[in-house]
Amino acid sequence: MMYAQRLDNLPPYLFARIDAMKAAKRAQGVDVIDLGVGDPDLPTPVHIVESLVKAVRDPATHHYPDYTGMLSYREAVAAWYRERFSVELDPKTEILALIGSKEGIAHVPEAFVNPGDYVLVPDPGYPVYKTATLFAEGKVHEMPLAEENGFLPDFEAIPDAICSRAKLMFLNYPNNPTGAVADLAFFSEAVEFAREHDIVIVHDNAYSEIAYDGYRPPSFLQADGAMEVGMEMHSLSKTYNMTGWRIGMACGGADLIAGLGRVKTNIDSGAFDAIQEAAITALTSPQDCVAASCDVYRERRDVLVRGLEELGFSVTAPKATFYVWMEVGDSMAFAAKMLDEAGIVVTPGVGFGRHGDGYVRFAITRSVGRIEEAIERMRGIAL
Ligand SMILES: *Cc1c(COP(=O)(O)O)cnc(C)c1O
Repeated sequence: MMYAQRLDNLPPYLFARIDAMKAAKRAQGVDVIDLGVGDPDLPTPVHIVESLVKAVRDPATHHYPDYTGMLSYREAVAAWYRERFSVELDPKTEILALIGSKEGIAHVPEAFVNPGDYVLVPDPGYPVYKTATLFAEGKVHEMPLAEENGFLPDFEAIPDAICSRAKLMFLNYPNNPTGAVADLAFFSEAVEFAREHDIVIVHDNAYSEIAYDGYRPPSFLQADGAMEVGMEMHSLSKTYNMTGWRIGMACGGADLIAGLGRVKTNIDSGAFDAIQEAAITALTSPQDCVAASCDVYRERRDVLVRGLEELGFSVTAPKATFYVWMEVGDSMAFAAKMLDEAGIVVTPGVGFGRHGDGYVRFAITRSVGRIEEAIERMRGIAL
């Protein structure tokens, strides 16, 4: 049996190799410390869980959901965007429920990209931007994220011949995997660029609520003109420790949102209403649970960064996200050695694209005790 060529065209999935090595270590009885996963270890807050339980007992939630999401969910999203970002959204036309933001990201090129069109993709970056482009038969143009540019893409460096054939650009700040952040001036520059070249911008804001030291990440939609050129993918996954629940939202210009909606109508049948009810509870309740999660991550970040510095590494404490991005030389070799000799999983930067090589990503989704132990183990090996 032969798979379709589009599967062969996907980039090699380096994480599969790490997973196999991790499984082999565990089979040998090694107590593996997994700092590889971008999935909160903290539970979903109880008031949100209770809200789901109540909703799922109501048979009204047991039917096919509305394609665009319950109006009450979209209204809750609009209220949250107004409160959090001072962005006004029309719940009827400018918001679409997603089955997690990954779903929206994976489907959005289907709405805007013709075969052969270019999609501008940050590298290193969340792998779905590239694979979604390839599924839509688009061409990937990598925008390198370099440390000397604060891990922001350099729009000037994109060749004119690419700009004129580009239909879509993905951006993601606070950024996975680098932990970098962007300000509104950068988003305004992106809007300007999109206008000039008639490009749709999809900003992935999955980490806007995971931030430290008083820093509040902006929304792309706060930039003047952003609603005319783009949309923002958002999600409850990281904010409320709800990665398994699969609920998110796309917000932006009505025509753009409608395009994504047309794709989705033909592929999925919406997010489970009971989960939308729980998501309404999450978005409309006091946000202390989010601050509490950030306090937990901040302590872990500080323990990890201090420990790495003591080991002689040069590392920047991220202002947002739960990732620490560190320069190491050969990222695959470093990750393999960490696992082999210390039983620690970190993600090699090259897994996020070739411009990520030279770095590894630590996810601070493990306890302070485990992070301290990881530092102790690293002290015992020559890195
Ligand atoms: C986690 C993550 C997402 C996806 O989150 P969902 O659970 O699908 O909402 C999207 N983008 C980035 C950069 C992520 O790290």
